[in-house]
Amino acid sequence: MKLTAVFAHPDDELGCIGTLAKHAARGGDVTLVWTTHGELASQFGDAGDKEVRRVRQEHGAWVAKQIGASYHFFDMGDSRMTGGRSEGLALARLYAQLKPDVVIGWSDDHAHPDHRMSAKIAFDAITLARIPKIINEELDTRLKPHRKPVRFYQYPSAGSAYPTVHVDVSDQLGVIERVFAFYRDFYGWDVPPDGFTRGLAARGVESGVEFAEAFQLRRRFVPAREGLP
Ligand SMILES: [Zn+2]
Repeated sequence: MKLTAVFAHPDDELGCIGTLAKHAARGGDVTLVWTTHGELASQFGDAGDKEVRRVRQEHGAWVAKQIGASYHFFDMGDSRMTGGRSEGLALARLYAQLKPDVVIGWSDDHAHPDHRMSAKIAFDAITLARIPKIINEELDTRLKPHRKPVRFYQYPSAGSAYPTVHVDVSDQLGVIERVFAFYRDFYGWDVPPDGFTRGLAARGVESGVEFAEAFQLRRRFVPAREGLP
């Protein structure tokens, strides 16, 4: 199975890192995509653009390595995302190459505009990637469209009516804590040691396991079944 996680900034992926690690360990083809370098983080102080991007690329490489994933950065601009067609098209071209079965992203109503916009293009690109004339416009290469059904999982939102899916990540707690500690140390988050896993434990209580991550599922182009599963 091929999974592509689409987020705006490095650290956004913390809500699904266990799920990604689990699928990668099972032989899944996992790609982490960041639409920006999160270059406005205060921790960078007066560092130049080139240096900030270099550090962020290192962060991406480190996180991807922990979970056995590949990674890709776009440069759509921290807090400058518009959710417009050119952003969706750039992502659709990546989908055409990665051919994901599953896309994971933010909810539609998160407070940060980049989070909402990254969710919008993550969804829009599923449709754009289906259309050869769109993904190949103004390109010399001939990308093949990605027309297989894609399951789109979003971080949960109280305002969403889409069905919730829990994933048992009890066996991935080590890697989850490692990645969380990496970002906590970089950003200097003031959180208790179990601050992050408490949320996973709460999801576990909802779903009958020790630790879980949760998503809401939006599906498009669902093939017909013989009957109800
Ligand atoms: Zn973010």
